[in-house]
Amino acid sequence: MLESAQALITKTAEKMQLDHEMIKRLIEPEFAHEFALTITMDTGKKKVFKGWRIQHNSALGPYKGGIRFHSETVREEVQALATLMSIKCAVAGIPYGGGKGGIVVDPKKLSKAELERLSRAFIGRIAHIIGEDVDVPAPDVNTTPEIMSWMIDEYQKIIGRKSLATITGKPITMGGSLGRTAATGRGGVIILESLISKLNEKLKIKNEKLTVAIQGFGNVGYYFAKLATEVGFKVVAISDSRSGVYDKNGIDLDKALKNKKEKGTVAYTKAISNEELLELDVDVLVPAALENMVNDKNMTKIRAGIIVEMANGPLTQKAYEYLAKKGKIIVPDVLANSGGVTVSYLEWVQNKAGYYWTEKEVNDKLKVMMEKAFEAIWKKSVEKKMPMKQAAFEVALERIISAMV
Ligand code: NAD
Repeated sequence: MLESAQALITKTAEKMQLDHEMIKRLIEPEFAHEFALTITMDTGKKKVFKGWRIQHNSALGPYKGGIRFHSETVREEVQALATLMSIKCAVAGIPYGGGKGGIVVDPKKLSKAELERLSRAFIGRIAHIIGEDVDVPAPDVNTTPEIMSWMIDEYQKIIGRKSLATITGKPITMGGSLGRTAATGRGGVIILESLISKLNEKLKIKNEKLTVAIQGFGNVGYYFAKLATEVGFKVVAISDSRSGVYDKNGIDLDKALKNKKEKGTVAYTKAISNEELLELDVDVLVPAALENMVNDKNMTKIRAGIIVEMANGPLTQKAYEYLAKKGKIIVPDVLANSGGVTVSYLEWVQNKAGYYWTEKEVNDKLKVMMEKAFEAIWKKSVEKKMPMKQAAFEVALERIISAMV
């Protein structure tokens, strides 16, 4: 993962004819903090956990990025994710650099009290290197608003004053933003609508004629399905890790949710497998589950003309190159799923100002920012006749470099 993130930057930078030292500055993290955390378990015994906070680039603003708790987290992964956050924040046009944190732990194996102690211990290790204008962590895989509430509480105790803007993704009652839960899915739908309106100028197609298949029915997949349906797309298939459903009349999300709750499967009507979903003859495919789901085993069977990467890295490099060559329009993850970090930025702004917006105000601001981000990438992609992914990396590097001395 680290190699492919660095390779993408190097390839783009070489095309932009940047010199060797500049490429090195864009690749190497500014700081990589590695530490051991010791907490007392419920049994009274001590246990040690490994953790990182990697601060990749701060040219555009404070480092920004989540903290993941995962048993398979390694330093290279945290560094790659920090690097991609620098690109994503630059693509989104928000005044942040990139960072990421992680602890090697399976949180399901901890009691709630142990999880709280671990979260507080992590802040104990990084309190001197974060801050609202320095580095602003947030949730990521297996970390929640509740965990953020423990972390911000610990941070404020250590520094001896309020600083809500230091961590985003907090519960609403602790300064979190309205609209954050749906933001990533909402942002993706705004990007898809922007893309269709550009294609419309040539092809004269309408949203309601376009069929959509969505893989992953979690936070991102659910809100993408809900909001895409609301603006007139026909979502005909959804799936989660254990089940999938196809409905040619359009998925009834309430029925799918009810069925999942009562019977453990979203298939309230025709059941399909995850593989079948990816290979459906639809206009738009939205991988919103995990990385590498479209790979050399299934890439030749993808029929959708538009792919919106809502998960991080859902296409392997090989699959991406194959599908791009076949003329598929691929909206890259750094643009498509940047709605989440954009509303995190809006949370930070509200915390710093001490003034809070309504959900509609947050959603309206998100729309303006996502459309602006899309416009810049689309323009570059058309002008330089390059895929949107390459255009996104070029735009990001141009912005980062312009802020470096
Ligand atoms: P989530 O845990 O809420 O949901 C993940 C979904 O994927 C679940 O429905 C799960 O059942 C499904 N899934 C897991 N394995 C699967 C498989 N093999 N086949 C099909 N479905 C499978 O996670 P999320 O927050 O929705 O995140 C999804 C993706 O979007 C991740 O790649 C994440 O990094 C990325 N992302 C999320 C956000 C955010 O704000 N939540 C922001 C940016 C990127």
